[in-house]
Amino acid sequence: MIFDFDVFVIGAGSGGVRAARMAASEGARVAIADDRALGGTCVNVGCVPKKLYTYASHFSHDFENAKGFGWSVASAKFHWPTLVANKKTEISRLNNIYANLLDNSGAQIIRGYASLKDRHTVTVGGTNYTAERIVIATGGAPNIPDVDYADVLISSDEIFDLLEFPKRLLVVGAGYIALEFACIFQGLGSQVQVSYRGDLIMRSFDDDVRRFVDQEMRKQGIEMNYQSQVSNVDRQADHSLLVTFADGTSTEVDQVLMAIGRKPRLTGIGLEALGIETTRQGTIAVNDKFQTNIDNIYALGDVTGGIELTPVALAEAMTLVNHWYGDSTKYMDYNLIPTAVFTQPNVGTIGLTEHQALKEHGEITVYRSDFKPMKHTLSGSNERSFMKLIVDTTSDRVIGLHIVGEGAGEMLQGFAVAMKVGATKADFDATIGIHPTSAEELVTMRTAS
Ligand code: NDP
Repeated sequence: MIFDFDVFVIGAGSGGVRAARMAASEGARVAIADDRALGGTCVNVGCVPKKLYTYASHFSHDFENAKGFGWSVASAKFHWPTLVANKKTEISRLNNIYANLLDNSGAQIIRGYASLKDRHTVTVGGTNYTAERIVIATGGAPNIPDVDYADVLISSDEIFDLLEFPKRLLVVGAGYIALEFACIFQGLGSQVQVSYRGDLIMRSFDDDVRRFVDQEMRKQGIEMNYQSQVSNVDRQADHSLLVTFADGTSTEVDQVLMAIGRKPRLTGIGLEALGIETTRQGTIAVNDKFQTNIDNIYALGDVTGGIELTPVALAEAMTLVNHWYGDSTKYMDYNLIPTAVFTQPNVGTIGLTEHQALKEHGEITVYRSDFKPMKHTLSGSNERSFMKLIVDTTSDRVIGLHIVGEGAGEMLQGFAVAMKVGATKADFDATIGIHPTSAEELVTMRTAS
């Protein structure tokens, strides 16, 4: 049978665009469909605008820190509409770059919501397109609880473009999105409260890191509330929101950001009619070749419920296309994926937490360092940094590396390479430090704690 396309990708986010471009560069006839702005979550309502807003929020700390170095900064004022407008301009520029990259690769962009008609047919805006292979890369969307006050809640999709700057913000959740936005808005001048159902933020992270970040966030003035559950949110006459908690306490804020995880974006795609299997979480079930139970229909990225990170979706897309046109024996390697949380200070982490390391390796040696970064000897800030190495005692391999401090994400990338090639603690010790930096701490840890 002759198909209209060799590959039809549904969803032009990080993973979808990469798959489309790579397949097109192999000479495949490729189409990619999306009804929204090109670039998906990362470009439009995720990594990119988040990082821009993180930069914006840092200035308040920098203005404060500058005083100890002799600078006097006349009262600095923040203008939210300028940040929003400049962000929009930058995102539009990136949307255009994505369109150009796709055009130049030879992939055909089809604008509209795509749904599956049969195992070789996708329908967009009433037109049917046939393809030998179909890739579902529709990503995810924020979870909003099914409550009768849902219409007054916002998610990370809306927060970037609020018409009015929220002077008081309640953030519900204590994962990546919740904590990054808590720090962004506190830095921009909001009064921020975090409400988390558990005992300590960042559940999957190393316990020392969790405690350290909690302390650093409190130092900035963020109110951290644990064992906390929102039971109601009421819009008041002055447009503020009255939030009531399960323990009977209440607070008044301007916005409530729900950051309680994400769900796959699959409504109307037509999985059920084709019998495509999903997991208990509602994500698409795939094998290690990204095939669904219908072997010419593939899925990758957040929609498969794996590790929800842009570089992971990109790597999955490249692995998939390489599987088709290159080396069919290569599989995606999910080991030692570094990750950063852009809280203030940042968190960078790779490998095992102490708890996991103990469970998996038994004999471990742990090195910790908690210190005041040199910059803050003059800045007057009481911000501290934390670093931790976890070593498998038998093999001497570094199996966990955790950083909390300015530039942690930047620092981690190079150490991730070392970990990936199996660096031992002796290799770390044999590496000459760069002085004066915070990163040198990681190669000068001599005493286990
Ligand atoms: P996370 O899984 O990181 O955090 C979700 C938070 O919401 C947790 O604190 C969780 O608590 C809590 N939660 C979950 N369900 C409920 C509920 N029903 N009621 C109350 N609280 C609840 O998800 P995010 O939405 O923050 O981010 C999604 C993913 O996006 C991340 O996992 C990450 O992979 C990615 N991301 C990456 C970033 C980066 O690389 N810097 C930045 C932003 C997002 P509990 O732990 O108790 O379950």
